[in-house]
Amino acid sequence: MQRRPLVAGNWKMNGLKSSAAELDKIIAGARQLVNAELMVCPPATLLQEFATAARGSPVAIGAQDCHVLAAGAYTGDISAEMLKDAGAQAVIVGHSERRRYHGETDAMVRGKALAARRAGLLAIVCVGETRAERDAGHARPVVRAQLDGSLPEPADDLVFAVAYEPVWAIGSGATPGRGDIAEMHAFIRQRLSARYGDVGQGTRILYGGSVKPANAEELLTIDDVDGALVGGASLKAEEFLAIAAVCG
Ligand code: PEP
Repeated sequence: MQRRPLVAGNWKMNGLKSSAAELDKIIAGARQLVNAELMVCPPATLLQEFATAARGSPVAIGAQDCHVLAAGAYTGDISAEMLKDAGAQAVIVGHSERRRYHGETDAMVRGKALAARRAGLLAIVCVGETRAERDAGHARPVVRAQLDGSLPEPADDLVFAVAYEPVWAIGSGATPGRGDIAEMHAFIRQRLSARYGDVGQGTRILYGGSVKPANAEELLTIDDVDGALVGGASLKAEEFLAIAAVCG
């Protein structure tokens, strides 16, 4: 099945109003791409401004997290509906930094994925094992449990993406070998197909963790790798565009 590659940049807690110039460069570069879909996920403070700047361009704007509920007494939190209202088209949920620093469980991540669906946002659901889990030979069961617990139940209009991000590869410069990535993505595809049928076949599985221009070709040409979730390298337009160029 044909899946359009998605290259999404997770800016994390980086970016000020002055970063708009970088987005402009990404938008200009994205016009040269024919195949890849580009997305920038800035901090919430920049969502509205970035969504306005990107309107009508090939660059989608996404958020980095959302609350499970639409509104209420949850100081500091932001709902999926608010993100949509600010112009977001997608939201990352269950990033390992949220799981680790904010104690997010699979059940909470599933709630957030459902909130995204309710608000009409594409959820990018992150899964991935730690170094210790991989070394103990538990990478597959860990990812399997995260998929089972974090993804929403099948439904007709369900659309989401999965990002496989080994925790030990994030921001470290280390990446799994091609064989390990191929094996994990094939396993995720098999789980998605078994649970969602055609929807699972059409669901994009992104790889994330130290993707750079220098290794993009090696990582993004693996079977069942339908694009990338990029952290550090997405902050520089030239690097982000060089990665996306691998997908065409
Ligand atoms: C991420 O945090 O989602 C990520 C992939 O980061 P980096 O590319 O910096 O490893």
